[in-house]
Amino acid sequence: MLINISEVLTKPYKTADETVELNLSRCDLPFGSFEICHLDPVHLTVRHLREKELDVLIETKVNLDLSCDRCLGSVNHQMDIQGNRHVNLECSEAELTEELDESNFIQGFNLDVEQLLLSELVLSWPTKILCSEECEGLCNVCGGSKSAVNCDCEDTGLDPRMSVVRDLFQNSGLNDEVV
Ligand SMILES: [Zn+2]
Ligand SMILES: [Zn+2]
Repeated sequence: MLINISEVLTKPYKTADETVELNLSRCDLPFGSFEICHLDPVHLTVRHLREKELDVLIETKVNLDLSCDRCLGSVNHQMDIQGNRHVNLECSEAELTEELDESNFIQGFNLDVEQLLLSELVLSWPTKILCSEECEGLCNVCGGSKSAVNCDCEDTGLDPRMSVVRDLFQNSGLNDEVV
């Protein structure tokens, strides 16, 4: 969604305040595509500072469907987005593009709300996603989630890929020599 900010851009010290509803069900980020379960209305404040400098504030809450880093189970993760960007329009088009990286959210007299939101998501992305702090991850014998499936596997600490070889020795009665 594009917001026309020409009034702010042409009048120094002018502030624009907007709240917009974005219809986003997924977000495509450089490291993956994620489902958006809920997105609050996006609140934006664009302030024209001295000369050609802008201050852009974005505020919203987003609920995402992510997966746990340990057990791969589904995690409903809420992110409170509170971003503040300083934009200097004095820069040349090329400099501006470079400075803002892939988050080039100002195009001419328009502000691309979706683009800005996506770049804020990248900036505030959690380093670790866990279904719970106590998540025990996956059983390295049966591959099931230890918290969800209450498996009786004995964690031998051995590489599960070696179990075929172990069974082979057990069946041939050579077990004693191996262990
Ligand atoms: Zn987990
Ligand atoms: Zn198991």
